[in-house]
Amino acid sequence: MSFDLTGQRVLVTAAAQGIGRASAEAFVRAGASVLATDLNESGLATLTGCDTARLDVLNAASVAQVCAQAGPVDVLFNCAGFVHGGTVLDCTEDELDFAFDLNVKSMIRMVQAVLPGMVDRGSGAIINMSSVASSVKGVPNRCVYSTTKAAVLGLTKSIAADYVASGIRCNAICPGTVQSPSLDDRLAATGDYDTARADFIARQPLGRIAEASEIADLAVYLAAATYTTGQAHCIDGGWAL
Ligand code: NAD
Repeated sequence: MSFDLTGQRVLVTAAAQGIGRASAEAFVRAGASVLATDLNESGLATLTGCDTARLDVLNAASVAQVCAQAGPVDVLFNCAGFVHGGTVLDCTEDELDFAFDLNVKSMIRMVQAVLPGMVDRGSGAIINMSSVASSVKGVPNRCVYSTTKAAVLGLTKSIAADYVASGIRCNAICPGTVQSPSLDDRLAATGDYDTARADFIARQPLGRIAEASEIADLAVYLAAATYTTGQAHCIDGGWAL
């Protein structure tokens, strides 16, 4: 895929590794001016072609400061998120609060920081990272995660509806299983990496786990695609079929 984002300022959260990193790299290839942000500064340091900034999306002051220094943001990719494993009986109040803070409230913080500028300029694209494990599909042992990712879809549609007349588009990406450092951690945490990996592959009808670069291509498309808004864009190897 080839899109020209020359002249566009793109801010990506969670860009030190995984899908966020692949997306920062893809936005650079598309010609955008990219601000790649993450908690993990050593991971950011190995990115090339981007501006980088330490940003903890849980911290409202940090969000306000980094967004103010970013300059006018044309495209916001809210990628930060975390997988809580377990059923509805397996989560504490603290785990629930953390999951909603990182997976949902952080996106609201970021949008509140950049949306007024987009509205002033009459254009902008917001991309929120959701998952097929959300309101799209029930997935075992992903109760809190799926609940937060379903909230991301509600947030996405709400922003899209409120700001469509202001020239703002807001879409969500719903991946299936994607190769990333945290996926490897989750597979290793089962105690049998190879069997867990085979099980994850088996649930993808296309017969493989996605590469982060494939999701990054969709993020670039959503930045460039001027006639889509308010949609949950599934990219899941047929998992939700
Ligand atoms: P990952 O989980 O391997 O990396 C996450 C990154 O987020 C890390 O660089 C980490 O430092 C950063 N981070 C964590 N807390 C942060 C904070 N408070 N502020 C800023 N950055 C923070 O990456 P991934 O697996 O590609 O996941 C990225 C997103 O994609 C998440 O929202 C995840 O839920 C979603 N997703 C992933 C998959 C998958 O299979 N990997 C599938 C569907 C959706």
